[in-house]
Amino acid sequence: MQAFDYYNPTRIVFGAGRLPEVAHLIPSGSRVLLASGGGSAERNGTLPAIRRALAGFHVTEFSGIEANPDADTLLRAASLCREQSLNFILAVGGGSVADGCKFIAAAACHDGDAWQLVSAQEPLARALPLGVVLTLPATGSESNDGAVISRRASGDKLDFSSPLLFPRFALLDPATTLSLPARQTANGVVDTFVHVLEQYLTYPAGAPVQDRFAEGLLLTLIETGPALLAKPDDLALRGTMMWCATLGLNRLIGVGVPHDWAAHMIGHAVTARLGIDHGRTLGALYPAVLAVQRGGKHDKLLQYGERVWGITGGSADERVGAAIAATGRFFAELGAPAHLADDGMQAADIAPVIAKLAEHGLTRLGERGDLDEARIRRVLEIAL
Ligand code: NAP
Ligand code: FE
Repeated sequence: MQAFDYYNPTRIVFGAGRLPEVAHLIPSGSRVLLASGGGSAERNGTLPAIRRALAGFHVTEFSGIEANPDADTLLRAASLCREQSLNFILAVGGGSVADGCKFIAAAACHDGDAWQLVSAQEPLARALPLGVVLTLPATGSESNDGAVISRRASGDKLDFSSPLLFPRFALLDPATTLSLPARQTANGVVDTFVHVLEQYLTYPAGAPVQDRFAEGLLLTLIETGPALLAKPDDLALRGTMMWCATLGLNRLIGVGVPHDWAAHMIGHAVTARLGIDHGRTLGALYPAVLAVQRGGKHDKLLQYGERVWGITGGSADERVGAAIAATGRFFAELGAPAHLADDGMQAADIAPVIAKLAEHGLTRLGERGDLDEARIRRVLEIAL
């Protein structure tokens, strides 16, 4: 196991019916930016419940944060924070609203071009405090220090992070997720599964605790994902999914082990160009990354195949192939596309996607930095 620091200050408040408690989680007297997406939280009753709970606060609302939140939209919200001296941000929504609010929190305290915080990874000196009321379990953003921000004007989708961006709290009420359409439920399962794998399925690091945590989450997702699609009204399953997603990327399972993140980086560039849902890019790209990287991941693929999928028969090479195939079958069972072409990507998109990755210095991907341009091309060709 490698040396590590672990720090996660986000208070988790989990349970159905707990939305009114948001009033006790925000410091009294705060001037709150209440930020949300395109209307789902209004329609499913989450925003009305939060509004009622915040009756004692000064509240300014900002809605319309889009999926794959756009920097230009978020900068308008940051200006609002400055103009009205708002000092607490409450995100109500999925990962896009949570991520978007992290950028708003940073931009509201930044003099100069806030996009540089993302594109040039300028270190953050200050950020407004934020809390998250989560309505879509997927990203783990509600309890981590990272955010992925898009800028449609330049065709970019990039991540940035800072310890200042950990939410003060994450209110996880599984009842808010009952309204999720099957596609978004599935996206959340795939995203969480790939988060766990990109921290687990690298090369063995002698980290048995992290391995068993990761395998526990993977097995739970394999049980829960299809069951949830069959029984979308099952609150217990919704709760299990919500907690899985948070634990998948609250940094705990990733301590002391090598990380991959190639599928995520390539997926971001694909989404920036084509607008394909994050979870759906991963469903096609992750098995392709495994196919190209199966040599370097050989030993861990055998462990994953045996412990997660019960694959014990055949040669080592056959077992590795079976583990990769089982992963793809699981995503397909959830309804994720096996191919990016199913969501509109064409062969002509491959070169611009690689060029975008190169522009941002993202062409030495994977846990060993050996996924170079030629291998990224191969991944995209397989995923297409
Ligand atoms: P999302 O983009 O936040 O939301 C997707 C869609 O689901 C939106 O149309 C949203 O509608 C709808 N929705 C949300 N909650 C709903 C509910 N309870 N009922 C019905 N519809 C609902 O999806 P996401 O997968 O959570 O977030 C994806 C973003 O997070 C991507 O940009 C991805 O790159 C990023 N990400 C971040 C991290 C991280 O660590 N920070 C990790 C992985 C991915 P409305 O707009 O109407 O609300
Ligand atoms: Fe993700």
